[in-house]
Order: sequence, then C-alpha cells, then structure tokens
Amino acid sequence: MPAITTSIFELLKIGPGPSSSHTIGPMKAGYDFMERIKELPKEERLKATLLEVHLFGSLSATGEGHGTRRAVMSGLLGYLPDTCQPNVLEEFDDNDRPFELDIDGAMITYHPGDIIFDAIQHDYPHSNTMIFRLKSGDDTLVERMYFSVGGGFLRWQGWEEPKHGEPTYPYDTMAELKDHLRGKSLRLHELIIANEQSITGMSEQEIYDGLDHIIEVMERSVELGIKSTGVLPGSIGLQRKAAVMYEQAKKEQFQGSGFLKAINAYALAASEENASGHCVVTAPTCGAAGVIPSVVFMLKRHMGALQEEIRQGMLAAAAIGFLCKHNASISGAEVGCQGEVGVASAMAAAFLAYARGCRFQVTENAAEIAMEHHLGLTCDPVGGYVQIPCIERNAMGAVKAYNAYLIASTLDESYQKVDLDKAIAAMAQTGRDMSRKYKETSLAGLAQSMTEC
Ligand code: SF4
Repeated sequence: MPAITTSIFELLKIGPGPSSSHTIGPMKAGYDFMERIKELPKEERLKATLLEVHLFGSLSATGEGHGTRRAVMSGLLGYLPDTCQPNVLEEFDDNDRPFELDIDGAMITYHPGDIIFDAIQHDYPHSNTMIFRLKSGDDTLVERMYFSVGGGFLRWQGWEEPKHGEPTYPYDTMAELKDHLRGKSLRLHELIIANEQSITGMSEQEIYDGLDHIIEVMERSVELGIKSTGVLPGSIGLQRKAAVMYEQAKKEQFQGSGFLKAINAYALAASEENASGHCVVTAPTCGAAGVIPSVVFMLKRHMGALQEEIRQGMLAAAAIGFLCKHNASISGAEVGCQGEVGVASAMAAAFLAYARGCRFQVTENAAEIAMEHHLGLTCDPVGGYVQIPCIERNAMGAVKAYNAYLIASTLDESYQKVDLDKAIAAMAQTGRDMSRKYKETSLAGLAQSMTEC
C-alpha cells in the first residue's frame, strides 16, 4: 500500500450536517459541476436547456432524509461547506421553489425537486454515485459522474490522486508508524505535524491555527446543542434530549453518574446540531460528529486540560482516523456504522489517552479497544434520517471511548493481545462481508422495523 498522504484538514472538515457523504460530498459535487460548465466554450453554454442530476445507491435510498437535495442545490448555487453559514441548507427546504442557475451566458431555472432519486441497486464503482448532465435538447453538453466516498470526500470518474508532497515519515500501518517513533525518538504529535507540513506545505503555525478553529467549531456545536430544545426536522418527530441530560448532569455537579450524563449530553448535543443540518466537524463523518466533541468538551470544561494538550490529543486522533480510512473505510455506505461511530470512538479514545499524557502504547491500546467493540456495527438509519440510531449511538461511542481509555490506562500494557492494525483489518473484512442492506440504505435493521417513519 502507498504511504498515507491524507491531510488533517481533509479528515476533520467543517460543513453542514446531517451526513457528510449525503450533504458535504453532494454540495461539493454541485459546486464542481458548475465549474466544469464554465470550462465549456461560450457558444456551447448558450445552447444549454436542461440540467439533470441523478442520485444512486444510498444517496437515493436515504438522500431525502439526509438533505441531499438541499446540499446539491446549494452547491449548484455556489456555496461550499467550509465557508457557508451554519444554517444555509434551510434556504432550500421547499422542493418547488425555483432557483436561477447562472451558467455564464444562459440561465436555467432549477428546483430542488428536479433532482432525480434513481436506482438503489446499481453497478457503478461506488454506492454513493451521482451523475450530473447539462443538456441541449437530447444532446449532452457536459456530464460528470461523481462518487461521495464518505467523510465528505468527493471523487469522480477519471479522478487521480492529487499531487501531495511526500510525507517526512511515510507509513501506512500502525506498526510502521511505531517504527518511526522508536527509531527517531519522536512523539506522535510531532510526527503528525512534520508529515502535515511536508504533505500540504503549511507552516506549523498555520496547522495549529487550523486545528484551533476545528476545536472551536466542535465546542460551538456542543454549546449550541445543550441550549437547544424542541423537535428535530423530519417526519420522525424526534425530541432533542441533550439539554435535559445536561441539566441533570449539572444538578449532580458532574459527579458520579452526573459525569457520565455530561459525556452523553455533549455527544447528544453535537449530534442533534448535525441532525438539524447545522455546521459540525466531520470527525471523521457528520453522522459521527458528536463523539470527539463530547470528550474534548469534557476534558476542557471538567478536567482542566490545556489547549496544547487538546491540540496534541487531536493530532493523535487524526493518526487513528488516517489509518482507519486508509486500511478500511470511514463510510457507512461501505462498511456500516463501525466505520463511522466505531472509528470516531477509536479516535476519541486515542485523543483522551494522548491528551492525558499516557504512553504511546496506551494510546494505541485505547483506540484498539474502542474499535474492537464496534466491529460489526451496521448502519440502519430510520426513515433515512441521521437521528435513530445515530444520535444516541454517538453518546454510546463517546462513553465507550472513555471506557476504552480507562481500561487501557489502568491495566498493564502487556495484557493487550490485539493490536490496532489487526482490529482495522477485521473492520475492513467485516465491512466486505456485510450485506448491502446494512450499509446506509435504510433497507434493514431498525429502519425496517420502524417503517412508520
Ligand atoms: S447508523 Fe451510523 S453510519 Fe449509519 S447514518 Fe447513522 S451514524 Fe452514520
């Protein structure tokens, strides 16, 4: 396998929820297609009469509940995930509202409802496929097939890996990463920073500034969520729970079960913000956007962690996310929820161990324990909404991360028999064996037994 060249800011991205593969990826696709149109000669553009957008696979199965229509529409109108207002998608709620697409010479009227939810079963290379076509009558002027491959990453037919700088310390497994740490007497966060600099060309200060912004958005999603009440968007009518849980934790002065209630409240809060279509951080996806913010908030607000410790913990979490993405997947449509909440929990466990100053081996063990106990977790969002089981599942993922950190940091390191590389390999194999029904299609599991939603 080639060395990992994913940037921290590709893994941890800011954007609107509720599902990075269903909102951030499609939003970027809409934006990119408009850029492709601009490359056409003007005389071609002027012939345009029709735009077609087809969604396939899990985008078709659950895109309605996940806000894919709104995301595509906002991208076509020039919005991008990391720069748009937190609640931008609400502008596109009405399927019949007409929007004028200015394609530099010709105007096309398009409604969110014009987007076509096409075949769920198909033979395209990735489940989350989109086809965009600009037409003049029956003639196609420009067409592009996109793949939303999870975590907000977008690929297209003919896509080639962009030229990254070479990582200073190349690795594609935890075993190789550990060899660098031992051989060069480096600490994990130093290695990740050095690689980020050589891959992206960013300075150390720019990386830390970007990381601080990511941490700030995570904290904001928790702060907003614990203050918000009412019912979440969609036909389920699901009540927000974070504020009630937080008040209870406060009454118990965050002690005893109040401590656990606070971890739950923070994860519920960020997940409920995500379900509202507000901006969160993909950590590593929108669906799993509550797990890491929960433990960050807990460490900062209740355990006195310094910003420097939070930054270093976040770099350790990113290392775990890179390994999972590279050797398995972070897409619910590819491997089920083990790739979303499972990976988030492993990242959060590593974050806790590293930020608390544990030895590196404890950090790996904490990630492995959290990953191991999410293996086989399916994805079956009820009604196609990232709400049931997703929101509570984030709370469970955060609590499991804390528990994995406790187990890893309390017991002797030599007790650990499974290493992280083996757990990631098991996740990849389990994902390959998992029926397609359990990969973000809402065709099985809870989504099937709660069909009234
Ligand atoms: S069940 Fe898990 S993978 Fe599926 S949408 Fe919910 S959070 Fe994402």
